[in-house]
Amino acid sequence: MTDYKFEGWLGHSPESVKGQMKWGEFEPKTWTEEDIDIKVTHCGICGSDLHMLRSGWGPTDYPCCVGHEIVGTVVRVGKNVTQHKLGDRVGVGAQGRSCMLSDCPDCSVNQESYCKRANINTYGSTYPEGGKGFGGYATYHRANQHFAIQIPEGLKSEYAAPLMCGGITVYSPLKNHGCGPGKSVGIVGVGGLGHFAVLFARALGADKVVGISRREAKRAEVLKLGADSYIATEEEEDWATKHAHSLDLIVSTVSNTNMPLEQYLSLIKTNGTFVQVGAPDNGVLPPINAFTLLSAAVKVTGSAIGPPRQIKEMLEFAVEKNIVPWAQTRPLADANQAIVDMDAGKARYRYVLVNENHL
Ligand code: NAP
Ligand code: ZN
Repeated sequence: MTDYKFEGWLGHSPESVKGQMKWGEFEPKTWTEEDIDIKVTHCGICGSDLHMLRSGWGPTDYPCCVGHEIVGTVVRVGKNVTQHKLGDRVGVGAQGRSCMLSDCPDCSVNQESYCKRANINTYGSTYPEGGKGFGGYATYHRANQHFAIQIPEGLKSEYAAPLMCGGITVYSPLKNHGCGPGKSVGIVGVGGLGHFAVLFARALGADKVVGISRREAKRAEVLKLGADSYIATEEEEDWATKHAHSLDLIVSTVSNTNMPLEQYLSLIKTNGTFVQVGAPDNGVLPPINAFTLLSAAVKVTGSAIGPPRQIKEMLEFAVEKNIVPWAQTRPLADANQAIVDMDAGKARYRYVLVNENHL
């Protein structure tokens, strides 16, 4: 029994994405002694929250409370919890649990985000121990200790929250695919994830960072974020030809099923890599012409969030490099308006819901 209530913004149908979430109580996942309860202070709004609210990735198990960029204070610890204590400031990202077994080909090598046995999302999944996961547009969140990460001192909660998903989803592929000195890196889709990618690519020491989004209007902001140049794909003539074979690595955060994928791929240098992290509704990408791949030996891959160990590394890196996300705080009470604004592409570049009663 707890003396606090789990309450939050619940989606009850695909209409909820239009600002029709309803405040209500929910039953968190079944408690285990490896768990902690977190009093949520901050929660970022990720593009994934919108996909889930509108059943974009298949039917959502409503009621659903989204939000997987959670930061708050530990208010309850299970008997077997060794990594956290009461009062600690922790963050939770998009993964709630994996099998965590030593014979798992993924978990045993710290690749928990690719676990095939028990890959549980923070919200929308059913836990092996019972109960459904509810996200962080809420008063409290229950998490497995391994997937709750200590927030380093010196990192503001409103910055730490969006790093937990938006940050790690781009930090991971940039790191894993060698972003650094000597590399030219393109970031396609400068939204929440994309703005983190520009910040990280710069901080990792890439020679050239190119922001690639649809409209000219973002140019000045993207250059201010640290990009060396910018391509406005819907307003610049012949952009794909002009910039052909100029990038070693691209991270694409775009989730539109009609994205100009062929043109993005044509920007890659011989032996370069294109990493898709944007997750289109129903997973559909445009077709790829084989000649685009074979004529430049292009590697096309994907990347899913990042494992706990790399989240810790990223948070330390963010402190060390003084990464300052463009986070815009919004009251938790205004979550419905905030998701509507997010869907309209108004975030510059990440909304973070704040529960003022919990500060
Ligand atoms: P976001 O803030 O909305 O950013 C997405 C950006 O894509 C927009 O700012 C937009 O920039 C660009 N875009 C290009 N073509 C578009 C179109 N036709 N319609 C709308 N936007 C378009 O969203 P986010 O939070 O960064 O998330 C991006 C995607 O990553 C989502 O699909 C999300 O589910 C996914 N995601 C994946 C992972 C993973 O593990 N792989 C983790 C988190 C999120 P312009 O308007 O400037 O073109
Ligand atoms: Zn996310």
